[in-house]
Order: sequence, then C-alpha cells, then structure tokens
Amino acid sequence: MISVESQMKKKVTYTNPLFNNMSEEEILIFQEKALRKQLKYVYRNSEFYRNKFQEISAYPEDIKTIEDYNRLPIFMDKNTERESQKESLERFGHPFGMHLCCSPDDIAFTATTSGTSGNPTFTYTFTNQDLNFLNRYISHMLEYGGVDAGDRVLFNHALGIYATSSILWGIRSLGALPIDVDVRGGSNMILKYAKMTKPNAAMMTPSLALHLIDKCKELNGMSVGDLNLQAIFTVGEIGIGIPETKKKIEDAYGCRVYDYLGELGFSCDADDFHGIHCVAPDLCLSPNDIVDPETKMPIEIKDGAIGEMLITELNLQALPRIRYATGDMVQVFTEKCPGCGFKGKRLKVIGRSDDMLIVKGANVYPSAIKKVISNFIPDVTGEIRIVLNSPPPRVDPPLRIKIEHGFNVDKNLLINLEERIKNALHTEARLTPEIIWCAPRTLEKELTKTPLFERNY
Ligand SMILES: [Zn+2]
Repeated sequence: MISVESQMKKKVTYTNPLFNNMSEEEILIFQEKALRKQLKYVYRNSEFYRNKFQEISAYPEDIKTIEDYNRLPIFMDKNTERESQKESLERFGHPFGMHLCCSPDDIAFTATTSGTSGNPTFTYTFTNQDLNFLNRYISHMLEYGGVDAGDRVLFNHALGIYATSSILWGIRSLGALPIDVDVRGGSNMILKYAKMTKPNAAMMTPSLALHLIDKCKELNGMSVGDLNLQAIFTVGEIGIGIPETKKKIEDAYGCRVYDYLGELGFSCDADDFHGIHCVAPDLCLSPNDIVDPETKMPIEIKDGAIGEMLITELNLQALPRIRYATGDMVQVFTEKCPGCGFKGKRLKVIGRSDDMLIVKGANVYPSAIKKVISNFIPDVTGEIRIVLNSPPPRVDPPLRIKIEHGFNVDKNLLINLEERIKNALHTEARLTPEIIWCAPRTLEKELTKTPLFERNY
C-alpha cells in the first residue's frame, strides 16, 4: 500500500489546456465571450429566457461584461424551475421546462435531483454534444486521481434518473469500467462486488465511505484498506471539507479522497482540503457570480468572499441554467492553492442558504458547527443534530445541539468536554449553545445525506 504522505502533490490543471497558459484576466475575457454567445443562444431558443430579458427591458446584446451580468436579477431557482416544468408539461407534453433550448428529440440524457421535497426537477438534461463536453471533465478528474483506461471504478450512488448517473458516461468515456452497485442494495452487496471485481477506485458519498469502514470489518472481517483502492471520489456533502472525515477515510482505505462538484471541478492531492479547484471556465461561469443570500445583490469576488453561488452554464445546449440560484453558500479563494499550486479560483461549500440560522443577529451555518465539533473526535463521534423548535432561520437562544459522545468516554468527564466544546464554538462560531449529550449511534445515520436538524415544529 502506498502511504498518502509519500505521494507527490500533483498540480491540478484546467481540463482545457488552453487555460493553463492564460492569466486570470484572459480567462475572464474568454468567459465573457462565451457568456455573450450563450445569452444570445438561450434568447433565440427559449420563450422562458426571452421573457426574462423582456421583464428587464433588455436584449442579450446589452450584456457586455461579467460585471453587467452580475447586476441582473436572478433568472431561476428551484421553485421557478418547477413552475417552468409544469408549464411545458401542460403546453408541450414534456417535463423539461419552458427553458429547454433544443428539441425534445435531441435529448440524449436526463436526470433529476434526488430532492427530498416536492417534484423532482430535470435539471441534468443533455444533448449528445453536451454529454461529450461534460465527459471530458469527469475523465480529467479520474485521470488526475490515477484512474486509467481499462481500470474498474466502483460506483455506489443511487442508480437511475439521478444527477450522479451522468458520471457513469464520463467513466466510460475514459475507457474505464464502472462497477455500478446501487447504494440502496446495501453495504453487503457493495462489498461483495468490490471483493469480486477488485476496483482501482471508488465513487460514493463521504457518509457511505465512512459507513463501509465499520461494515467491512463486521461483514468480512477485513479492512477496507484490503480493497486496495487507489482513489476515492466523493460528492454531495460537506464531507471531506471536515479534516477529521478526510483523514479517517484516507487512513482507513490507504488512499487519497477527492471531492468534486459537478461542472466546477475537484479537490487536489494534498493532505489538507483546499477546496474545489475550478477547472472548467468554459463550462460554468461560477464562481464568478455570488450574491448575498437575502438581498440577492452581487458580492465582489475576492479571496475569502462568501455568498450564495449562482450557476450559469456556458456552451451547454439542452437545458442550460442561466443565473440560477443554487442555494449553496460558498467561500471563494482567488490566491494560488497552497497544496498544489493551482492558480485558478477555488471554492468551499459552507452550507445551504436555507440551512442558515440566525442566532442573536449573526448568521450561523450548521456545517460550521459540525466542523468545530468534529475536532473533538474521538471524544465525540462527530454526529450532531441541531434542535429546532420553530421554523428557521431565526432561533431563540440558546441554540440546542445534540452531540454523540465517543464510545470510550468517561461520563464523569463530559462536563469538562462540554466546557471545551463550548469554548471552541464561542471562539470559532461566536455561539453559546446548550449541549445535549447522546450515547454513540443514537442519532440515526443515513447513507445518502445525514440530516443536520431535528425539527420539533
Ligand atoms: Zn490544490
């Protein structure tokens, strides 16, 4: 097994080599050109986007710079996307939305968000040309993580009509073979196929990667390290942004874990997590478009800036998202990556704008709380729930947090531990919470997305 420390910290490069020799300014000029082209394209090809421009009495030709663009109102969010789909279903008999920019006949792939509430949205709908474009980014990431043609990749997301299914196309386009075992088949099934097929790498949620560490011992009496994976790629949660989670997965599996964010990029081969490296300036305008989550006013892009991320897909044909409010709160980094030297922008997802709490007038993100508490592993398990007795975001202080203590913690020492956690939360998150201790494994874990809140209203 190759130890993580002995590996070189490979520099992340842009997927399109064209950008590797460009300055940030030149990349922005390139993006502005692609943006102007995309705005004209969506205006010509969709009633929805024509209406958006008419509402502001403008034409795509009026938008000359990214700065002009940042000042436009939001074009779409989850709710308007659902309305647009409802209208296209009623008027044209297809569910893709009034913002569809191609003929329904030309759609080669569609997938929805696995959203927990409301109707699914067919956000990930692509033509063949779109898929070919996207495949390059998946291949590029897999290659960065050491996956070659002919390798096998264990793939354990929910299979079927979900966003992650598009990744399967990318794996195949590289010439690698996906071993796609649906996460809903359970740990036993996943491990059985892993043992039989000897995959070189795996793709799953960080929760599942953590869960399999214990399950593998229980079911097989072997360690996940014996699977000999060379890389794990995770998506969908804050996950490996928490140092203890990254370290626990890497130590147990004996390989590097990379996090990625669809259409944006992936994290680098460094011991510390330095965020998602945005390798795709020709695919997505983000992270050059962030707004205040409440006022939706643009926030200036500079190192450390925090805001809600808007997505604008460049070059995609079928169902491009244009000034789409994702609800994801991100922090943008513009300085060179201290881990690998990548010069482009990086970002860290810090939470959901709809998860944001307001305690005594200050914005608080549950993921930030979880991160502080994770520093106390193994005295705590890392599992927490924030107890809400009324609908967020405003919380009557004190904020109540349920925390699982560790397996071998002397109960008499909990008072001291509580004091240390409270101090840390006060220093790092400006919070004075009430802590409710729970026994280990009493807060239910989920393989897809672990809930952050216990809602008692
Ligand atoms: Zn890096």
